Amino acid sequence: MDDADLFHEATRFSGGRFDASRWPPWPGRLLEMGRKLLGSLVSACPGMPSVHLDLIDDSEVNACAFRHCNRFFIGVNVGTITALMLLYHRMLADRRCLAQIGNVHREVSDLRLVTRLTAKSVEMVPAMPHDQIRVEYANHLICLAFLFILRHEFVHVAHGHIGLLEKRFGVQRLAEFGSGSEPGLSPLDRQTLEWDADSIAVSNFVGWFHQIVADPSAVPPNLRHFVAELTEALYPLMFAIHSLFRLFGDSSLLGVDQSAIHHPPERVRRAIIGATTATYFLKKDAELGKAVGPVAAQAGLVDTELAFQALTGQTPDFPGLREVFCGEAGMNYLSRLSENWKSNLRDQLQPFAYIDLPE
Ligand SMILES: [Zn+2]
Repeated sequence: MDDADLFHEATRFSGGRFDASRWPPWPGRLLEMGRKLLGSLVSACPGMPSVHLDLIDDSEVNACAFRHCNRFFIGVNVGTITALMLLYHRMLADRRCLAQIGNVHREVSDLRLVTRLTAKSVEMVPAMPHDQIRVEYANHLICLAFLFILRHEFVHVAHGHIGLLEKRFGVQRLAEFGSGSEPGLSPLDRQTLEWDADSIAVSNFVGWFHQIVADPSAVPPNLRHFVAELTEALYPLMFAIHSLFRLFGDSSLLGVDQSAIHHPPERVRRAIIGATTATYFLKKDAELGKAVGPVAAQAGLVDTELAFQALTGQTPDFPGLREVFCGEAGMNYLSRLSENWKSNLRDQLQPFAYIDLPE
């Protein structure tokens, strides 16, 4: 059996392997890009076995990392790709969303409001931007969100999350939602794994853009305008990641018992993205960070919320978001996760990791 057969065997109860050759060139190319990215991530970890990426024929939004027959796999549900396409095409088809992109006057402002928008159920009337630049921008956002998910899943493998779970609980699969997403770990440990995967995924993605802006030779010529300048490159990245989490929900931290839930709330995950990006630039180039910070806040906090307001008609809770992003509530939550990493999980994971884990 080859990796595709093994993947199908391991996922057959949740839909099995989806044959992406049934898709048109776009979004079929996403899988090709994802495999290329994974190949480069694996090759940067000496001694790490290859990781096979494929799609699962399941209409819900989900992704997972798992081991099967001693091989590593990452599976992304077809429903995730569908949701990303619906979301970003719908946004860019609306002249109130990202009005600075392309010719917004070619778009409309009376699209039907989205009434159900969760990871379980993305129900919206499909819409496609009229302006070609906005179509391409929507596709770029889909691509960035998809590659962020892959980077996140890759950390679950490379940082030994799967290895530790297998050793301790006999579980070989870590899913983002639903059964298999809480494989026996304490809620705080489970959240810390997500914190680790989010932090490293965004830090490495930002680092990749930092490099590629200086030397864009690895980017196809038709996409180089997205990496002409660092702030221009990071704006869609921050917008894509924040809106991906925003799709999963936006509940306040009030009344949340951190020691009882298995995943950090979406606002906390967005605070992780903001804090990690800020830390990256503090370490690498503090001056550059001063230019990047406002762009990240505009894309991730303000413009993401305004786009969701256009989609749903609901007013953004900016004070509540700021309290989590830059107030005490968010800081305390994140400190508990990073403390748990330092004092507990890091040392347990290191024997199963393929790189030297960060302190
Ligand atoms: Zn995860």
